[in-house]
Amino acid sequence: MIVVMQAGSSEAMIDAVLERLGEYQLQGHLVRGAERTVIGVVGAAIPPTLKEELEHFVGVKETLRITQPYKLVSRELRPTDTLVQVRDVTVGGNRCVVIAGPCSVESEAQLMATAHAVREAGATMLRGGAFKPRSSPYTFRGLGEEGLKLLAQARDATGLPIVTEVMTMNDVALVTRYADVLQIGARNMQNYQLLEEVGRTGMPVLLKRGLAATIEEWLLSAEYVVAQGNPNVILCERGIRTFETATRNTLDLNAVALAKRRTHLPIIVDPSHGTGKWYLVPPLALASIATGADGIIIEVHPDPDRAKSDGGQSLNHANFAALMPKLVAVASAVGRVL
Ligand code: PEP
Ligand code: MN
Repeated sequence: MIVVMQAGSSEAMIDAVLERLGEYQLQGHLVRGAERTVIGVVGAAIPPTLKEELEHFVGVKETLRITQPYKLVSRELRPTDTLVQVRDVTVGGNRCVVIAGPCSVESEAQLMATAHAVREAGATMLRGGAFKPRSSPYTFRGLGEEGLKLLAQARDATGLPIVTEVMTMNDVALVTRYADVLQIGARNMQNYQLLEEVGRTGMPVLLKRGLAATIEEWLLSAEYVVAQGNPNVILCERGIRTFETATRNTLDLNAVALAKRRTHLPIIVDPSHGTGKWYLVPPLALASIATGADGIIIEVHPDPDRAKSDGGQSLNHANFAALMPKLVAVASAVGRVL
């Protein structure tokens, strides 16, 4: 439910509503917009009489039901776009972000080479996995804390904020010490305890869509993070499982355009995992920006043929640099900057 306050309603009036919600064991999330101040009401059991009851409070303009099962992330609650601040980079709004870097952090030489190359080409953030969810237990699973230290070193050298995955609740405190954005991988999209734990950090969270998750399930997962009082969620479409086997996944750009209508959270696209083939990454990256994505996340490696993970879908430095001016052109064609 949404409680819309009258323009100019006082803090005391807002507090009175919040206090009553507390008496019902409900949470009130205050959203102050340029045009209106509203209170999002969430909780397991909203009494049927509450809507009517709150309309009698001084300062309350009206109360509205939120029709979607997700509440705090819905556009019904907050019509304007959420901006997520990551150091000096804003995700959401008019400027599109480009996050680039290797699938896995492999060595100092590999990470530093790619960090400098993507920065030179104009990337805004650096990605790299230190804890890798791999389909086979016999493949490279990441350098762990050593990888996080290398990422921090690359941030110091380039100024690029770093995005890296946290796979388990046990690692949240460790990864939080190094990362600027906590990535929740596709396989963990429905790990609800992990979502709540990253929610409690208050840090920016990059939430990938699950391999077989509907848009509604994806937004409900974002709701878990935001319900912990952390509004800093960036959604990421990374392809879903379909009957098609010619590509690794089917990149669902429908989901980007639709989710932009349903939620105020920023949405970026990962055409690397979405296609699984390096030569499909540039066209789908361009399509993502044209569709209205707030940015892209791309795997880049100095020598993709020798990568320890996802080499087949990684761009080399030259191909990444060649893509950047095209992204700038498409962004400008759709009224964005990059
Ligand atoms: C990754 O970003 O390298 C990754 C493992 O992504 P996903 O969780 O989307 O498979
Ligand atoms: Mn990868």
